Amino acid sequence: DELVSQIAAGEVVERPASVVRELVDNALDAGATQVTLRLAAGGVRLISVEDDGCGIAREELPLALRRHATSKIASLSDLESVATMGFRGEALAAIASVSELALVSRTPTQPSGFLLDARSGELRPAARATGTTVEVKELFFATPARRKFLKSDATELAHCIEAVRRHALARPDVGFAIWHEGRLVEQWRAAEPGQRWADVLGEEFMAQSVAVDWRSGPLRVTGRAGLPDFARSRADHQFAYVNGRYVRDKVLMHAARSAYEDVLHGQRQPVYALYVEIAPERVDVNVHPTKIEVRFRDSREVHQAVRHAVENALAAPRA
Ligand code: ADP
Ligand code: MG
Repeated sequence: DELVSQIAAGEVVERPASVVRELVDNALDAGATQVTLRLAAGGVRLISVEDDGCGIAREELPLALRRHATSKIASLSDLESVATMGFRGEALAAIASVSELALVSRTPTQPSGFLLDARSGELRPAARATGTTVEVKELFFATPARRKFLKSDATELAHCIEAVRRHALARPDVGFAIWHEGRLVEQWRAAEPGQRWADVLGEEFMAQSVAVDWRSGPLRVTGRAGLPDFARSRADHQFAYVNGRYVRDKVLMHAARSAYEDVLHGQRQPVYALYVEIAPERVDVNVHPTKIEVRFRDSREVHQAVRHAVENALAAPRA
């Protein structure tokens, strides 16, 4: 079973940033309004994610670590309309199999919090406010082959920050803070979407971008598209979301790219944050364990909507 978990972990946990993504997903699913990350050595030594969400009841703590245990969907039909980030019940079990993991949590009705040490199974009272802290230490300590694939601390840290940035652009209503080695490296306070775009993508982006707002049948595309002349040197400034979930999807990226095609000269990469809202039954999010890929029932319909949404925004008088 240990081996099965570790193999599953290989699909979910590739590097510290994958852990960050899963833990922040969980915090958001728990209704957190503030998520605080503490990292050491780029996340390899420590990733701690603290939230003020609903917490996990004492008797549920061991269950949270069990494989395929999820509190989020009860039946296969729920999978058709999944509204939470998680639903596979794999992440915590997978992460625990390749690290030293501890959960500290308290629900609003409990007089105190409880700590569960995944390795020893020890469960004891621990002081904390309502919410959950997941502490992941020594990632891949027992699998040196995996650990060898990690890059420098600075690179791993950059990937961790990028993972939080993706969440931050989806949830402006939630505050995020990232500490590394005791230093505050990023802080995005809860804000209106416009302010969050400015905080995460820069004031310059806001000055040189246009609003996207397009409706087409069951589809809605909103967000912000950088003007063709505004380009960042890095290629990772294309953020696309489907029903609030960050995705790397060829259909969306190609559609956006096509909208820029005539106006974008040379090798420049457009900068955008696009949010597609689509009826849940028209998209399958259960394609890949990391849920970063999706499958649309009708990808042409999505492609056209996104392309038109961006073309329309770029053609409109600047707003
Ligand atoms: P999934 O998110 O797919 O359900 P996970 O392995 O990520 O699976 O988490 C397992 C379960 O642990 C969740 O279904 C949830 O009940 C609980 N859980 C994990 N993290 C948190 C958190 N930060 N706050 C509240 N509950 C949590
Ligand atoms: Mg999860």
